[in-house]
Amino acid sequence: MSESLQPIYEEVLRRNAGELEFHQAVGEVFESLGRVVERNPHYLDESIVERLCEPERQIIFRVPWVDDAGVVQINRGFRVQYNSALGPYKGGLRFQPSVTLGTVKFLGFEQIFKNALTGLPIGGGKGGSDFDPKGKSDAEVMRFCQSFMTELYRHIGEYRDVPAGDVGVGPREIGYLFGQYKRITNQYESGVLTGKGVGWGGSRARPEATGYGTVFFTERMLAERGQDLDGTRVLVSGSGNVALYAIEKVHQLGGTVIATSDSSGVVYDSDGIDLDLLCEVKEVDRGRVSDYAERRGRSAEFRAGSSIWQLAASTRVDVALPCAIQNEIDEADARALVDGGVLAIAEGANMPSTPEALHVFQNSNVLFGPAKAVNAGGVATSALEMQQNASRDSWSFELTESKLEAIMAGIHERCARAAEEYGEPGNYVLGANVAGFTRVADAMLAMGVI
Ligand code: GLU
Repeated sequence: MSESLQPIYEEVLRRNAGELEFHQAVGEVFESLGRVVERNPHYLDESIVERLCEPERQIIFRVPWVDDAGVVQINRGFRVQYNSALGPYKGGLRFQPSVTLGTVKFLGFEQIFKNALTGLPIGGGKGGSDFDPKGKSDAEVMRFCQSFMTELYRHIGEYRDVPAGDVGVGPREIGYLFGQYKRITNQYESGVLTGKGVGWGGSRARPEATGYGTVFFTERMLAERGQDLDGTRVLVSGSGNVALYAIEKVHQLGGTVIATSDSSGVVYDSDGIDLDLLCEVKEVDRGRVSDYAERRGRSAEFRAGSSIWQLAASTRVDVALPCAIQNEIDEADARALVDGGVLAIAEGANMPSTPEALHVFQNSNVLFGPAKAVNAGGVATSALEMQQNASRDSWSFELTESKLEAIMAGIHERCARAAEEYGEPGNYVLGANVAGFTRVADAMLAMGVI
């Protein structure tokens, strides 16, 4: 890290003690910004970096609800409205027991740069709760969402802050949240949330967007070396929304996904993952990948608790798409991938590589696409949903998907150009951080000290 940024980083650590994921996200961005602030000293003179690290507003609230047994449960809700220089705060809600303020801040910080990279008018924010939707009845999830929104509604709005889904928050949760917002405010404000159902203000291709966008970005990286996905063998971790649609697009483009995973373990399928069966198990039955292995028969093998990335040590893997959760790839996993001859890694999840893993990738010859750039298709299509809501329009799947593909090409181009400008062609980490930062920083400068 450059000398001029070190004291700012130390102050971030001091003021946000114990928030390790947040420290990691800030540290990774700072690693890229040294030369940017050297070339543009006014960013330092105007304290742009310090201002960027401090969220504009952080909201923490109690979420009481009653479970099916009649017992009162208490969760904690968060919304971090991080930066609104480019547009209303925009970013998802994560419902997962491990969520803390530090998790939400790391995700919100990443979201600022990701959203800037899309070129669209959206600021950065994130929220969530330590509520666990797993194992809860629909009625319990509804009561929780209604209680969560009863506090959140006063902080959000089409022009203020537009939440969406993330881990643990899908169409069911967005439906309950929107319903309660509509009831409390007595207005049908479609643009207040994205990820809505297509029949009531949602965008076509939004469910597919993060996964598809991840694969579109991967294609662009491979094309730089004259390669494509046809005939490749691919690992896709996680089996949530991002993973399922990444698998679908890889298969459409002629690749084969040979393994996937969830928090219980890995399923390796020598015939390639059967996506219809996986969707039935995960989305309809809300089951685990072990159920997939059981129902699939002989070609599939379930390995409890093992790392999907270690498969690269025993079988050919060309592309790795981490689509599960932060820090899912450690140094040993990264080495297994690189030593196994992987061509490209593209981060569908947010911050899935530990700093040590990132170091391994950056010191190798593999193509590496960082989350901010790779998974920005989801939030970009949320911005397209906002456009449709504002104009009371509803676009076709083909039109929306073609816009998503063009946005991903634009993000790839911005990253590649910034990396070249700073003397490291092909370094997408540097390119994404620099291009995202510059767009936000310039807007902040224009708006004065606020
Ligand atoms: N949670 C997604 C992300 O990490 C999407 C956010 C949105 O659509 O607003 O970017």
